[in-house]
Amino acid sequence: MPIEKIPEENAILFVWFNHYAGVVIKTPSKTLVIDPVDIRARSFPEADAVLITHEHYDHLDPRLVAEIQKATDCIIIADPASTQRLKHTIPPEKLQQIRPSEEIKVGEVSVKAEKCNHPAAEPITYIITSEDSVKVFHTADSLPYPELAMMGEKEKFDVVFCTVGIAPGASPEKGFEIARLTKPQVAVPYHTNSKDYQQQFAQMIKKELPRTACLIPELNKIYQVSKRK
Ligand SMILES: [Zn+2]
Repeated sequence: MPIEKIPEENAILFVWFNHYAGVVIKTPSKTLVIDPVDIRARSFPEADAVLITHEHYDHLDPRLVAEIQKATDCIIIADPASTQRLKHTIPPEKLQQIRPSEEIKVGEVSVKAEKCNHPAAEPITYIITSEDSVKVFHTADSLPYPELAMMGEKEKFDVVFCTVGIAPGASPEKGFEIARLTKPQVAVPYHTNSKDYQQQFAQMIKKELPRTACLIPELNKIYQVSKRK
């Protein structure tokens, strides 16, 4: 599972590692692990930061986050509710709370929090911009919301992760709506254990968003996405 490859210039690598929002993103200089659950700490020996979107069990496992932190000395960036649950096990100088529209730099990599439309305490989504400006939008298990259209226009996302199942209200149609609003170069259907749902999402993209490519990820496989030309 550790990503030994390094992305080419103007590209990132990513791995989807559980049926939820568990994603590793590797830029040329940094490795970010998002919402690790259902996996071993030793899968991430190279983590520079762990990012948590909200406190639900399929996104936050405080014991696992503490194990990863201890093994790698990485920083932990989390929404307020998750920060509360982590503050007893993570050294204070390594734990950084984040709220929508705030930004934290991990070296040259930018991690910005945005709104998340999901029934949790103060959930967030993450816009990650690599040192060579590859833009990844990790939407946690958000449902679509109107501001996504403006964010898409402003940010010109290279990759957007779109929830197609398991969460309240989630479906291939709702996931497609996220892609339709954000118009990424590459849309990735995740947060599901249904290949059918992923295929339905892919069909909608093909029919209605000809300029967006759909990438159906397999678990634990490495994918590279380059910045759009
Ligand atoms: Zn979830």
